[in-house]
Amino acid sequence: MTSKGRIFSGMRPTGRLHLGNYLGALQNWVALQNEGYECIYCVVDLHALTTETDTSHLRANTYEMVLDWLAAGLDPQKTILFVQSQVPEVNELHVILSMVTPFGRLEDLPTFKEKVRQNPENVNYGLLGYPVLQAADITLYLAQYVPVGEDQVPHIEFTREVVRRFNNRWGEVLVEPEAKLTETPRVMGLDSVNKMSKSLDNHIELAATPEEIRRRVMTMVTDPQRTHRHIPGRPEVCNVYHLHQIYTPADQVIRIEHDCKTAAIGCVDCKKIFAASLITGLAEHRERRARFAADPDYVWDVLAEGRKRASVIAQDVMLRVRDAVGLP
Ligand code: ATP
Ligand code: MG
Repeated sequence: MTSKGRIFSGMRPTGRLHLGNYLGALQNWVALQNEGYECIYCVVDLHALTTETDTSHLRANTYEMVLDWLAAGLDPQKTILFVQSQVPEVNELHVILSMVTPFGRLEDLPTFKEKVRQNPENVNYGLLGYPVLQAADITLYLAQYVPVGEDQVPHIEFTREVVRRFNNRWGEVLVEPEAKLTETPRVMGLDSVNKMSKSLDNHIELAATPEEIRRRVMTMVTDPQRTHRHIPGRPEVCNVYHLHQIYTPADQVIRIEHDCKTAAIGCVDCKKIFAASLITGLAEHRERRARFAADPDYVWDVLAEGRKRASVIAQDVMLRVRDAVGLP
């Protein structure tokens, strides 16, 4: 089968993956792999350094995250899975791309402003340059499509601009990528205010036990106007309802919508039903994950093989980049 195009994406190894990572990105990663795209997925450990000052968990987090990838259906026979720092060509491309990056453009990116707000005592040069390194990740593999959640769209737009500037100055070597979103590009956290995010601890892990799922779901914020059991709810503004639409069978969802609008059920009952749906919905993931974890070397073997395959592409593209730039 010929490839429909080259895909690249990455995730930071900052912990086990959550529903937002899956519904916003990982689900698409698996689908694209199975639709005949040539896929390259990266553990972006250097990106994790921008916010993680304690780096002692990077290795364990990489292992846990790749288990989630495999359990979700990424297939190392079809797809390259590798660790960013193990293919160091990306650092050289990062430096070159930084020369066609206007400084002010980086300061204006919403993700930078948000991280500064969340963590004002650790605003480092690497954090500002994060999108340039990300542009290097994507363009080093000449990727055409980048499956990501909505929060990453400004970075893909930024990458396109950098590619245009590079190609204008040095010739058509790099490829302008396009973002690919899922139908749920922004999953809200348990607080219903922020996007679900590892760093905000407002998430549910894909690998959560039934007990953890029940506990976390019961803390979910529902329609803020439904302050009493007898007040009818508005499913259209309720995060629990949105997730019911994904994890609960359709006939049951219709009943929940009706019962919520008529105050026939309260939010606690609704959340109990959702917890049960989610426990069922994630059971297979948990089982597959445990099977992959049974051989502790497997993840590392997969990443070692991915490193070799990624290096071949990266080295070839860097030869072309150096030649275009005129480096002696
Ligand atoms: P952190 O809080 O450490 O930034 P994160 O949970 O945002 O972690 P990332 O590694 O930054 O996870 O993101 C991995 C992928 O998951 C990206 O493509 C991102 O767009 C997507 N993603 C993350 N959170 C969500 C969400 N709540 N909804 C949809 N997509 C998401
Ligand atoms: Mg993030």
